[in-house]
Amino acid sequence: MHHRKLFRFFHRIHHKSHTPTPWAAYSFAPPEAVVEAGVLPLVALVLPMHELTAFLFVTHMIIRNVIGHAGIELFPKWWLRVPLLRWITTTTHHDLHHSTARYNYGLYFTWWDRLFSTEHPEYRSRFEAVTTGRCTTNKDLNEIPFFQNDRST
Ligand SMILES: [Zn+2]
Ligand SMILES: [Zn+2]
Repeated sequence: MHHRKLFRFFHRIHHKSHTPTPWAAYSFAPPEAVVEAGVLPLVALVLPMHELTAFLFVTHMIIRNVIGHAGIELFPKWWLRVPLLRWITTTTHHDLHHSTARYNYGLYFTWWDRLFSTEHPEYRSRFEAVTTGRCTTNKDLNEIPFFQNDRST
């Protein structure tokens, strides 16, 4: 979706939200909506799937989308210090994706961003700042000059 030939058609609408709120979770252009909604039926065509599995997948997708776009950090400050948990993305992780569109492409897990070195270099320190009270919300992070520089590129 971030490839320069695809971005305008598929994903640009979603990135109009630089400091997302839960309303941004499903704010995207119709072509992106088709892709997002089409994943589950495509998988169901290939793999046998119980209705409960489909229901749990969609429920998980909605909850994680709202958390990722919450605009305030909902995860506890110790989250990134626990190796078994830190691969689950936080609100700060996706907030940085929206502010830069160059980092943190994963919405659910950090694996791919770590593998391809696309995790925002300030992710951990910004998460610490938000969860330790140095900033009260992710929106406050946007007031930091460094963060504003990210947007101008
Ligand atoms: Zn998003
Ligand atoms: Zn994006």
